[in-house]
Amino acid sequence: MINIFATAKARRTRGYRNPEMPHVTTTVEPEVSAYEAASQRFHLAADRLGLSDDLRALLLTSYREVQVSIPLRQSDGRIHTYSGYRVQHNTDRGPFKGGIRFHPGVDIEEFRALAATMTWKTALAGVPFGGAKGGVDCDPAQLTRPELEQLTRVLTQRIDKVLGPTRDIPAPDINTDSQVMAWMMDEYGKAHGYTPTIVTGKPIALEGSLGRDAATGRGLVYVFREAARAIGLASEGATVAIQGFGKVGSWLARLLEADGAKVIAVADLSGAIRCEPGLDAKKLSDHVGEGASLVSFSGEGVEAVSGEEFLTTRCDVFVPAALGGMINAGNAAQLNCRMLLEGANGPTTPEADAILEERGITVIPDLLANSGGVVASYFEWAQNQQHFRWEEKEVNERLERIMQRAYGEVSARAEGAKSPATLRVAAHEIAIERVVEAARLRHTL
Ligand code: NAD
Repeated sequence: MINIFATAKARRTRGYRNPEMPHVTTTVEPEVSAYEAASQRFHLAADRLGLSDDLRALLLTSYREVQVSIPLRQSDGRIHTYSGYRVQHNTDRGPFKGGIRFHPGVDIEEFRALAATMTWKTALAGVPFGGAKGGVDCDPAQLTRPELEQLTRVLTQRIDKVLGPTRDIPAPDINTDSQVMAWMMDEYGKAHGYTPTIVTGKPIALEGSLGRDAATGRGLVYVFREAARAIGLASEGATVAIQGFGKVGSWLARLLEADGAKVIAVADLSGAIRCEPGLDAKKLSDHVGEGASLVSFSGEGVEAVSGEEFLTTRCDVFVPAALGGMINAGNAAQLNCRMLLEGANGPTTPEADAILEERGITVIPDLLANSGGVVASYFEWAQNQQHFRWEEKEVNERLERIMQRAYGEVSARAEGAKSPATLRVAAHEIAIERVVEAARLRHTL
C-alpha cells in the first residue's frame, strides 16, 4: 500500500511550493505540470513537422509504466511504504535509458515527462538509446545510509523484470549517485550474474567510466562555448549564476571557472550566496562536498542573499541546475541575464519560454545543453561491453565532438531559411524526426 501521508508531507516540502522557505529561489508554482509542459513542447515541433495525430498519440504515449511499492522498516521501528516508478517511453532507437531520482513528491506523471525528454535527448545526441526515467517518492535526507541502500535494493528487485543491459539501463539523477548505482548493479547481479552494463554512472572501481561524473557539466561548457560565440559573448570573464549545486551545478562551476568565466552567484536548497569578484568554485565544491551548507561558505566578498536577490543577479548566463519548473511565469521577467543554459531537465515552463523569447534572452534547451551525461553514459556502456577502459582524455574529446555537432545541427535548424525556430523547437524537431524514422523502419507505420 502506498503511504499517502508520506507523499502528502513530501509534497509540502517541495522547494518551489513552500512559502515558508524564503531563501528558496522561487516560490511560485509552475503554471503547468511537467507532463503538460513537455507535451506542449512536443506539439510545437510536431506542428512544424506536419506530424499526423496518430503519430503524435503514439509518440506521446509511454511504452510501459511500472509502479511498485517499497516497504521499508525504518529506525523508528515502523514500516514505511514508498512508491517506486520506472517509466519507459520509447525504444525505437535502442534500449531505454534514463536516471533514477529519489525526491519527495515525484509521481508517475513527472516521470512520464522526464522519460519522453530522455527519448528526444538521446535521439538529438545520436546515441543508440531510447528514453526512460524512474525513482522513488522519498526524502533521502530523512533516511539513514542502510535505509537508502535497502530502498535501492528493493526498487531494483521490483523493477528487475523491465531492466537489462539491452532493455533499460538506469543512471544517477537528483539525489542518487555512483553509490546508488553500485547497489543497483550488485542487486541486479544477484539474479543475473555480474552485469556492469546494467547501470551507468558507476564508481570507477566497478567499471565506471573516467570522466562520467563531470560529463554533464563538461557538456554544458562545450555547448556554452558554441552558444556564447554565436551571441558575441566571450567565455573569458563571462559572469554566471547557477541554481542548484549538486552533481551538475558543482562540476559546471569548476569547469566554467577553469575556462575563465566568473561564477558570481550560486543557490541550492539551503539558500543563495553571491560574490561579485567571482566565487572560488573548487573551494565551494569541497565545502559542500564535506557536508557543510552552501550558505555557510565564507570568503572575501561572499554574501548570503535572498532567493529574489539571487534570481535578479545581473549576469551573462543563468544556469538552472536543480528541479523542473523553477523558471516560470512568476519569475522569468526577473532574470537579468543574456543566456539561460538549461542544466536541469525541464526547468523552464512554456509561459516562461515565451517571456524569455520576448525579452531576447537566448535559451539553450535541456535536450541539447545537458546531454553530456547521457553521452558519457553511452561511452561507459560501450566500454563495459568489452570490459575495457578508455583514457579520460578520449572520453572528453569524444564528448566535445558530439556536443559540438549537436549544437551545430540545432543552430542550423533554428536558423533554417524557410522558417526560423527557437533552439528548443529546433532540437525537438531533429529528435522527433530521428525517432519517427527509426519507428517507421521498425514497424511499418
Ligand atoms: P543533485 O541531487 O546532485 O543536485 C540537485 C541540486 O539542486 C542540489 O544542490 C539541491 O540543493 C538543489 N535544489 C533542490 N531544490 C532546490 C530549490 N528549491 N532551489 C534551489 N536549489 C535546489 O542532482 P543533479 O544530478 O545535479 O541534477 C540536477 C538537475 O540536472 C536535475 O534536473 C537533473 O534531472 C538534471 N540532469 C542531471 C544529470 C546528471 O548527470 N546528474 C544529467 C542531465 C540532467
